[in-house]
Amino acid sequence: MRPNTDARSTIVVDGWFDGERRHAGPTTLKVVDGRLVGVTPGDHGRELAGSGWPLERGAFLLPGLVDAHVHLFLDGAPTDAKHRADHLKRPLDELMDAARASARQTLQCGVTRVRDAGDRHGINHRVREEARRCGSQLAHVRSAGLGVKRAKRYGAFMAADVGDEASIVRSVGELTVENDEIKLILTGIIDFDAGAVTDEPQFTLDEARLVVTTAHAHGRRVMAHCSGAKGLAVAVGAGVDSIEHGFFMDRETLSKMRDAGLAWTPTFCPVHFQWAHPEAVGWSQNTVGNLRRILDRHAEMLRVAHQLGVRLLVGTDAGSMGVEHGHAVVDEIGHFIAAGLPVDAALHAATAAPRSHFGDAHPRLELGAPFEALLLDADPARDLGALRRPRRVWRAPAEHRFPGDAPGRPPAEGVSQPGSDAPSTRQVAA
Ligand SMILES: [Zn+2]
Repeated sequence: MRPNTDARSTIVVDGWFDGERRHAGPTTLKVVDGRLVGVTPGDHGRELAGSGWPLERGAFLLPGLVDAHVHLFLDGAPTDAKHRADHLKRPLDELMDAARASARQTLQCGVTRVRDAGDRHGINHRVREEARRCGSQLAHVRSAGLGVKRAKRYGAFMAADVGDEASIVRSVGELTVENDEIKLILTGIIDFDAGAVTDEPQFTLDEARLVVTTAHAHGRRVMAHCSGAKGLAVAVGAGVDSIEHGFFMDRETLSKMRDAGLAWTPTFCPVHFQWAHPEAVGWSQNTVGNLRRILDRHAEMLRVAHQLGVRLLVGTDAGSMGVEHGHAVVDEIGHFIAAGLPVDAALHAATAAPRSHFGDAHPRLELGAPFEALLLDADPARDLGALRRPRRVWRAPAEHRFPGDAPGRPPAEGVSQPGSDAPSTRQVAA
């Protein structure tokens, strides 16, 4: 594997997207030591190449994609229920290997950052640390570690039980030491046969609010697994930072979310898979109809959320049945566009919006920002499929997690794809 020693590189494109705005016309971007240091209108590739700058050319460039909701230790490809149940019982080292494979595949797909929404083994934390290493070939991980839930309620594969108020404060406080976010399992799963959320929320408004205030007191955001009107009312009332899934959303809740700055990660993919492949679970025709209605309502509410200006995050719930790590991000972007959102709004929800939600210093690709980007053969506004075959992926070096770490930054790590003018083997450089 060719180590990426290019501390400098030049990229010439016909157009690019910085995560919020698109920029038309030939542009020359200069990267030094993993940071974007120059953006000049026009094609200056020849003169820069002449002075020794390595040169890449492509049609379109955008920031590395972000998947704001995954479970790295779960494999989304197998759809057989027994196989999936057996996977959960596999030894830790095998689950670690599965998670590494998920993070590697994710990066190969041009998804340079993921938010892991929980596992009970601490695998997400370990992959996060491994991904920090230069040349790891893994997508960077923001880890929600272990979440919190009620005893005997949904979420055992990703959360621990909490009891009274004292145990909530103690548990959440302890989790904030290693967790980048706190995952609150607020509701159960949707009863697709009934076409509704039929159980009560796992936490009262006061209890959920205590989770949020405790997490915020330790500088951590809260992501809530939540669907159904009752759960959504508790989530918004408690002031969680993002609502994951949020099926059976309504306009009033969206207005409150917009006003309070709460984000929404709608995760169409896992439910769309159930609708598109009912044979995988053996859903009845009636249930397939319910799934269609749930998806159509979800798309309608996504349009409303966009019109209202609610912060939207692309998250796939990768690892769920039929939802494959990395690949599913373009599917989710496709669901946003099919719902009626402009392409750039969907791209924003998969690039700058999650980085901003995570508190990144540079949510957009701008001068001085770490260079994390995709080089494509076409503008995704004209050919969304171009997102599935990135020519080159740059992963920014890991941001130092703790103050006082050694300064200085290794160069951006390039990922070459077959067919690019880099050496033709599928490789992750450096
Ligand atoms: Zn999930």
